[in-house]
Amino acid sequence: MNASIPENIREVRHQISEFEDTYQRPNGSVNLLAVSKTHPTQCIIDAHAAGQKAFGENYVQEALDKISALQEYDLEWHFIGPIQSNKTKALAENFDWVHSVDRSKIARRLSEQRPVNLAPLKILLQVNLDDEPSKAGIALNEIKMLANEIKDLANIELSGLMAIPAPGKDLDSQRLGFRLLAQAKDDLQAQGIRTCQHLSMGMSSDFEAAIAEGATIVRIGSTIFGPRKQIYSELDN
Ligand SMILES: *Cc1c(COP(=O)(O)O)cnc(C)c1O
Repeated sequence: MNASIPENIREVRHQISEFEDTYQRPNGSVNLLAVSKTHPTQCIIDAHAAGQKAFGENYVQEALDKISALQEYDLEWHFIGPIQSNKTKALAENFDWVHSVDRSKIARRLSEQRPVNLAPLKILLQVNLDDEPSKAGIALNEIKMLANEIKDLANIELSGLMAIPAPGKDLDSQRLGFRLLAQAKDDLQAQGIRTCQHLSMGMSSDFEAAIAEGATIVRIGSTIFGPRKQIYSELDN
């Protein structure tokens, strides 16, 4: 048992609720996603002891190992990493949310492969706010087209947008990118995609700015679990 993990969870939750107050966000409108990638399953159990249910993972095989080891716990799994099309079946069968959808082929496969006895898979479109072609995600001006292509797929629910902006120097510059994402989400809702309610934005270093601009899910890793291990396969969990 790593006693600092429940403590860190409580501290992050406290900060989130203070930022909700500061920025006139309704209480409880910001959900904490604990990003557990590279950390062993015991860390997830320790976080769960502090009431944490939602966990984010980036690597499919690592995530599947953890999901199967932790079946007895009531957990919600979010996939937040890059998606290869040969991994969509594993995602569709094992996750509750996928934050990193950036092409219609992936969305179609997730919908086709989602078991019908499960609730529709909640998906978010990943947006690249920085005009860096090397980064994952679609451009702001591509959101509407992709959203329209996939919004009626049967077994997924287009639930919002996600971004990982380049680190901003200060609160104001961090807020600019998040504001663009929030505007894009509002546009989709105004266009009639009612399920498009979520903004997955904000990590350990910029979640205040994200909450200020309307984040409904903040993805926090190192502040909860400490620095990440380099290679998962070297862990003995
Ligand atoms: C690793 C990761 C996080 C968590 O980052 P921290 O800075 O450790 O809080 C959040 N989102 C994504 C997509 C990640 O890959």
